[in-house]
Amino acid sequence: MSYRNFPMVPRVVFGRGSFNQLEEIISPKRLNVNAPFIFLVDDVFKGNAWLTSRIPLAYDDKVLYISANEEPKTSQVDSLVEEIILTSRQGTSGIIGIGGGTILDLAKAVSIMINNEGEAKNYQGWDLVKNPAVYHVGVPTLSGTGAEVSRTCVLTGPEKKLGINSDYTPFDQVILDPELTKDVPKNQWFYTGMDCYIHCVESLTGTFLNAFSRSYGDMALQLCKEIFLGDNLSVNDAQDKLMMASWHGGMSIAYSQVGVAHAMSYGLSYLLGTKHGIGNCIVFDQLGEFYPEGVALFKDMVKKHDIYIPTGICAHLDDSEFDKMINISLGLVPLWENALGKNWQKIITREKLKSLYKKM
Ligand code: NAD
Ligand code: ZN
Repeated sequence: MSYRNFPMVPRVVFGRGSFNQLEEIISPKRLNVNAPFIFLVDDVFKGNAWLTSRIPLAYDDKVLYISANEEPKTSQVDSLVEEIILTSRQGTSGIIGIGGGTILDLAKAVSIMINNEGEAKNYQGWDLVKNPAVYHVGVPTLSGTGAEVSRTCVLTGPEKKLGINSDYTPFDQVILDPELTKDVPKNQWFYTGMDCYIHCVESLTGTFLNAFSRSYGDMALQLCKEIFLGDNLSVNDAQDKLMMASWHGGMSIAYSQVGVAHAMSYGLSYLLGTKHGIGNCIVFDQLGEFYPEGVALFKDMVKKHDIYIPTGICAHLDDSEFDKMINISLGLVPLWENALGKNWQKIITREKLKSLYKKM
């Protein structure tokens, strides 16, 4: 097939307070009373009755609180899957992820691996998944990554940081309740919001751009400008709009690709554990030669919100460490091709990458 035939999230609810409908939505999906729903919940909500009292537990259903301090690992997916399979002998009715991109990606990966043999690391790549995932629901509590809508779940494995990209990865159901984002700390709001902004810039300036991606990218970019540069938005409006910007930003890259910032920030994340949102900001800050308009606007946003973008994080690295980051980054061929065209290797040499990393 010359044109890719992509799945989309088939069901979505949007609205403040829509999280209250979770029970109504999932109960018809219960396989039997011995097949629990497993709720993977960001541990930032542990003890937060406002959210957790609304998680509809019945029969053997379980809440597993998970830290988002580190991004998801293939080994973490494997041990969660083992734990879930051992404690639910008549199957799993569904996996419900409640959190930011970290928890959403974990929920997607776990739901795939429950129904597929072997270890998660063997499925990092494109279209390696054989069996459909168990029913899985995404409830974002932080806006920007687009993980709620995308066809991938990004995992760090022993050899690479790469997503499980497959037709079985997207959620069966997403609940978009912007009210759930109300307590996100300001810096995190900005870093993850910039992930969305950078998705737009990379998609809209990429060589893979087409009308499908452009329409979503334009919409998300416009929303980001209103949210991060406008003056008259109410708090609720800003939360609502960022949730939709994230969605559209994710849709924009579905049919194209991200670019230089993502290719380089994956290197930082692999070597230094730098998280995606802040890592993208650290990289993007130095990419004026590739994205002049996008970076200028980014700097305006940083200034307006008085956000700290770290520098000097590569200052102490030795040559072998630079090499590791460069290897990870150069491995992301489609990203470079999207950003710079088929002849990207003429522009991006190992030396060029090293000089860019040295600025960060
Ligand atoms: P995150 O999920 O790592 O969370 C960042 C921090 O915000 C954590 O400390 C978390 O506890 C906290 N947090 C989340 N919701 C909160 C709330 N409502 N109130 C207070 N604190 C809250 O951050 P992220 O930027 O959303 O996700 C990053 C991850 O997403 C990375 O692992 C990245 O690889 C992945 N990602 C995936 C895709 C995809 O398409 N699948 C796209 C981009 C990024
Ligand atoms: Zn991203």
